Amino acid sequence: MTNYSMDIISKPEEGTASILSWSGEKGTFAVIKGEGNDNYICGVCNNVICQNVNRGQISNLVIICPNCGNYNFIKGT
Ligand SMILES: [Zn+2]
Repeated sequence: MTNYSMDIISKPEEGTASILSWSGEKGTFAVIKGEGNDNYICGVCNNVICQNVNRGQISNLVIICPNCGNYNFIKGT
């Protein structure tokens, strides 16, 4: 299991990126769960946002951290 810290970016302009946001309660939990071997963690608060995924499986996706609200970018490689 490897933890990868995601890159923090500023809010992307409308229509320029795929953004996954969480509209429910705030907190420290994963918004994507899989059965792989890697975790992606928030670059600010270290919350595990993508749990048990495989590196390369997710690419070019911006995820808003459900805990701190920052924009995390997954390049995919
Ligand atoms: Zn965070």
